[in-house]
Order: sequence, then C-alpha cells, then structure tokens
Amino acid sequence: MAWTSRKYSIGRNEVSPTQRKPHIALLGTGGTIAGKARGDDPRVAYDCSSLSIDEVLAMCRGIEQKATISANQILQKGSENFSFTDFIAIAREVWTYAFDDSFDAVIVAQGTNTIEELAYFLNLTIPTSKPLIVTGAMRPPSAMGSDVCPNLYDAVCVAAHSDSCGMGAVVVMNSEIHAARDVIKSNSFKLDAFESQFGPLGYVVDGAPRYYRRPFRKHTTSSEFDIRHLQALPMVEMIPAYEGLTARVVSEAASSSAGLIVIGTGGGSIPESLIEPIKDAQSRGAFVIRASRSPEGVVVRNAAHPDDEYEWLVVDDQQPAKARILLALALQNDPTKTALQRCFHEY
Ligand code: GLU
Repeated sequence: MAWTSRKYSIGRNEVSPTQRKPHIALLGTGGTIAGKARGDDPRVAYDCSSLSIDEVLAMCRGIEQKATISANQILQKGSENFSFTDFIAIAREVWTYAFDDSFDAVIVAQGTNTIEELAYFLNLTIPTSKPLIVTGAMRPPSAMGSDVCPNLYDAVCVAAHSDSCGMGAVVVMNSEIHAARDVIKSNSFKLDAFESQFGPLGYVVDGAPRYYRRPFRKHTTSSEFDIRHLQALPMVEMIPAYEGLTARVVSEAASSSAGLIVIGTGGGSIPESLIEPIKDAQSRGAFVIRASRSPEGVVVRNAAHPDDEYEWLVVDDQQPAKARILLALALQNDPTKTALQRCFHEY
C-alpha cells in the first residue's frame, strides 16, 4: 500500500495525500554514504563526507520510481563530529520539511557512527507523524558490495509508505527498520551493524516496509520537548565508572556539567571508591544518573545503590549516549529530580 487518497491527520499537520508519488526531502550530512575512493584500491581507503547528496542520489538508479526526491546538502562532516549544536541545526531543517505540506516524509543520510543519537534526537523533538528516516552506509559507493544504494532505496521505500506514519524516527539499514529509541550500532565493520534490544520494528521486503511492532514509549507527537526557540543544550558528561577511575576525573567532568551519566557495570553498580567523589560532584549542582555498560537490560532504582537516599536517578534501559540526549532536553523543561526520573520512565 502506498499513499492513499483518504485525508488524515499527521501530527500537527493536515495533509491530503492523493494518488501521486510521495515527495520526500533527503538531507545530506556526510559520512561513509558520501565517501569517495582514495587511490587505486576502492575497497580499502576512502574519504568520508566527500560526495554531495545529489551525487549519491544520482548513483542509485531506479530510486526515482518510488518517490519524487528533493535532495538538500545541509552539512558535510563525519557524524563522530556532531555536537548538540549540529543536532539542533539538523532538527530545525527536518522540522521545516516535516511541516511543509508539500513533503510527505524526511530522510537524513549521515555517518553511521552516531546515527542512533541523531535519530533519537529527532524522535524526541519533531512533533510530526510523517515518516522520519535516518540512514547511512557501512561501505562507500566505490566499494565492492556497497550498501549505499540498497540502504537509500530501502529508506525511500519506508519513507514513501503510509504504514510508516506515527512510528517515530526510525533507522533503516541492512533491510531492517529500527526504532530510534532502541537501536545501537553494535558492530563497527559488518553491513549488519545495527541492533535493537527488542528486535527491529520490521523489515523492508520487496520495496515496502513490513512492520511487526510499534514503539511503545513517547515520541514525536507525544513528546514534550520543543526545540523551536532552543539555541543550545546544557553540557552532560558521561563517566565510565571503572575501579581505577580517579576522583580528579569525576570532579573535572562535573565542574562544568549539568548532569553526569555514570556508566556502571551490570545493573549500574559503581565502585565504592567513586561514591564520595560522585556525591561531591553532585553537591556542586550536577544531577547524577546511573546507567550501565551492558547493552541490554535495565537499571533498577534503589537496587545496586540507594538512589532515594543519595538523590540519584536511573536511566531505566536507555543506553548512556541516548540518556545523555534525553537528560539535556529534559533539563530545559523541569530540572527537578522527580520530573527528570519521570522522563527516563516515559521516553
Ligand atoms: N566517519 C563516518 C561517520 O560519519 C564513518 C562511519 C560511517 O559512516 O559508516 O560516522
């Protein structure tokens, strides 16, 4: 099923899709998907973030049969360099297209290294039900077996389909559709590089998305985070809490930060030697949030440490990098422990 002629509400926009090809905004930001071969051996060395999104699109013949695609280069850099400022700038661009009635969906093409962070940021900040897709590639266009065109084609297929409305931001890679909240880059090398704790939402099969589940936690239209007037986000640091970590590192991290995501072991266990330094950092105003270095599972309040007594928060099951984004946004609205803890249990 592609776009139908029935009128329906998507997010805070009203659009009337007709029997026409969907119009998709494709925003280029760099990454391997925009990589250019360096030297004679195209399998090995390449320069990331070198091709324009127009050049990348031109390589994917046949993609235009699925949708009318308007490509726009909004940034050109490796996603490991993305800052909160970049997230806000990209989200503003996405917002513009999401709330333009002439567009049905938005795709962001970026480096895979922080795809999960940007997708989650969009998931929390763009209040639309239009499909929001983030994609990338593990092999540049010049490589044998490149996944650039398959991933871009799949992203367009997902974006062009009305079943993708209301799913929140999703990551489309390797024929899978992942919820922004749950997806992580779990492999640094393989084409099959992304995983979600509870599995993907669905697959891309024969040019169309096939969904098996929906995201349960709040996102997009039910999110309380508004970036329209946001200029910057507060600094939130992440500390991997291993036994040999010194108090100096903790206090330096805390000195200019509004929050500390402390990445403990297992259920968020923090070595005894770090409890006092962390409490010390907290006394200077930083919120302390316990996370886990385990990629799956939950951090339970008052289990490994007495969070009520210490006035600490827990991330629930959120990965540290995503907890950092959620905390930075939540601090804008209601910077109280109760409100912040609620966010970790609702988003
Ligand atoms: N530097 C790239 C990045 O933007 C490499 C990763 C990739 O695109 O696969 O994250």
